[in-house]
Amino acid sequence: MGNEASDPIEEVSGDNDRLLTPLQQLRGIGPASAQKFARLSVHTIGDLLHHFPHRHEDLVIHGSIRDVPDGARRSIYGSIEEDPEWVYSGRGRWEARLTPEDDPHTKVVLHWYTGKYRAPVRGGWQGWLTGAIRRFHDIVIAHPVLFRAAEREPLPAGHGQIVSVYPSTDGLSQDLIRRSVQQILDEVELDWQGELPTLLGIERDLPSIYSGFHRPASSAECETCRSHLATIEMFLHATKQARTRAHRKAIEIERVVVSPEVERRILARLPYQLTAAQQRVVEEIRTDLQAGFPMARLVQGDVGSGKTAVAVWAMLAMAAQGRQSVLIAPTTSLAEQHRDTLQRYMEQSQVQIAHIATGCSSDIKETVARGDAKIVVGTTALLASSVTFDDLALVVVDEEQRFGVKQRQEIARKGRDVHRLHLSATPIPRSLSLALRGDFDLSRIDERPPGRPTVQTHWVSPSKWQPALEFLRKEIESGNRVLFVVPRIEDGDGDDPVGVEQLAKKLRESTLGSLGITVLHGGLSLQERSDRMQSFRKGREPVLVATSIVEVGLDVPELTVLWIEGAERFGLAQLHQLRGRVGRSDRPSWCFFTAQPTAEGGEERLQAFVDEDDGFLLAEQDLLIRGGGEVVGSRQSGSSGFLLARPLQDLQRFQQLSAEAGVRLEEGHDPPEGALLQRLGRYLGPEMVDPLD
Ligand code: ADP
Ligand code: MG
Repeated sequence: MGNEASDPIEEVSGDNDRLLTPLQQLRGIGPASAQKFARLSVHTIGDLLHHFPHRHEDLVIHGSIRDVPDGARRSIYGSIEEDPEWVYSGRGRWEARLTPEDDPHTKVVLHWYTGKYRAPVRGGWQGWLTGAIRRFHDIVIAHPVLFRAAEREPLPAGHGQIVSVYPSTDGLSQDLIRRSVQQILDEVELDWQGELPTLLGIERDLPSIYSGFHRPASSAECETCRSHLATIEMFLHATKQARTRAHRKAIEIERVVVSPEVERRILARLPYQLTAAQQRVVEEIRTDLQAGFPMARLVQGDVGSGKTAVAVWAMLAMAAQGRQSVLIAPTTSLAEQHRDTLQRYMEQSQVQIAHIATGCSSDIKETVARGDAKIVVGTTALLASSVTFDDLALVVVDEEQRFGVKQRQEIARKGRDVHRLHLSATPIPRSLSLALRGDFDLSRIDERPPGRPTVQTHWVSPSKWQPALEFLRKEIESGNRVLFVVPRIEDGDGDDPVGVEQLAKKLRESTLGSLGITVLHGGLSLQERSDRMQSFRKGREPVLVATSIVEVGLDVPELTVLWIEGAERFGLAQLHQLRGRVGRSDRPSWCFFTAQPTAEGGEERLQAFVDEDDGFLLAEQDLLIRGGGEVVGSRQSGSSGFLLARPLQDLQRFQQLSAEAGVRLEEGHDPPEGALLQRLGRYLGPEMVDPLD
């Protein structure tokens, strides 16, 4: 930390938390750049300190310039003795010769493709220079960033060191972000008060941790500091979850006991026997309901594992008590499908089922408000304030990953102290689920309904198009359905995969043309989508060409062939979700895809997709291939992920941190994370706000 005298914000307000100081108090940040920072949700000094680099770039040349990989950015300290020359080659360029101080005999040529009338630099220049090093006949650096300096040291920001690369926005330079962060680290007295809990095992103090991550001297230091911050982050999440859990369990509500008679009647309504895994989850739910405090349970199960059945069980158990349940689904077609399933199961029963759709009649809403409809199904249309319940006791969120935290809360607020049952097909490793959803109890359905064939997955080359069509034709003629999925609505140009309409046209002109082809994408009205889905479901048009809009939930037993175009454009989890649309009956099923992977690890990912059909194992492999990078998604995008903690390495520790957090809460530490960490909670803690909080 710098000394008091140079502190630029010393005179600011009486506010005792300097992290809350507006950014504009920093030198070099005026209203215009403050506005740009605001676009990144960076408003204060504390925000900027926690605006972490998404990667680091080592600009230091270790060894000789000749050993630098082609195209890598590096810094050189050196001199330009002669004025640059204008070279008539192509459209012309400026050229200068740089003499590196450490390596004076290596010829480094600088290029500038700028106007002829103004030289980019003059002879006699000395200083730091940074750019992408290209190894042609000579070493060439085009458009280097120059920093004039008579001495090598001190190192100017952005040259000759490991530099942070920050998430940025239009017109906000890395340089300004770096200089501003540097100013905070060096000159602002942040009066951190209090200590880190010793259980975290962190010996460095906070200032040096932040400094070591924003401006590491070595990659080892960078990793140490990142991992310390990740530990703090995880502990904050764990504490929050422990608190939420404790609050929930302190709420007293009426116990719901499902009698053997009710149990028997419920099971009689299902057209199949529950699998052992489904039975286990049903038992867990039964225990929750009679615990006397609100349930919060997340059921994870691979696509097709039969999660709906356990939700139906819970809703019927509630209906037997005369109480209301709601099931919210992310798409209209999924909501309609659930409505159909429930109506089929509940034919000739007293239980009234309501389906709330956008623009549905107020009569339907009335049945819900009066409490006549015991089971209510719908999409986010349910969230409208005009939808009220008489006595909502259970909220089921299907495909919960498709809803924002706010939406999940809103639906739960339709009742008081409701039981919550969330369903998710997102295959994530257990350590990650615990960390992300520690506020919920976890159940897993790890078994498929009996008699389900594994889906045979094949990576096909474009030359197999004709024979493939013949195969599809036979499938359809024997009463099955075929789904084509393409990455986009619009047609692409050149090498881009075709769009929905173009592929549909190609198919209409092919041997499948006479069989009935329909298309589905997000550009259609809800009504159109629903009509077309029905037409496909009923088999009037047995070929469906769609965007990934069909990814979730779609359950058509006759669907036996899935064809994905441009599979490299989809994430592995998404591909697996798509594949879950087939193999939903005892008919043999196939997944074909075409792909031209170009990204690193792309081919490996697709091969894993061919070889592995268990979504959870696939997710782990995906993590390994991607080195544990972004699986959670960024917090900015609204999921409840982590900023710094990495799923593979760091989250191993989560369980332990979670136990410690629970102990500190019970021991009455207030706040359990300590005053220092509580202050950091707004930056490193979870955004999740629990409805029961
Ligand atoms: P998901 O877990 O993907 O939501 P669903 O609940 O849609 O899966 O179930 C997939 C299919 O399996 C449905 O057609 C459903 O009727 C069927 N199914 C569910 N449980 C069983 C079971 N125990 N035995 C046979 N079929 C089942
Ligand atoms: Mg489902």
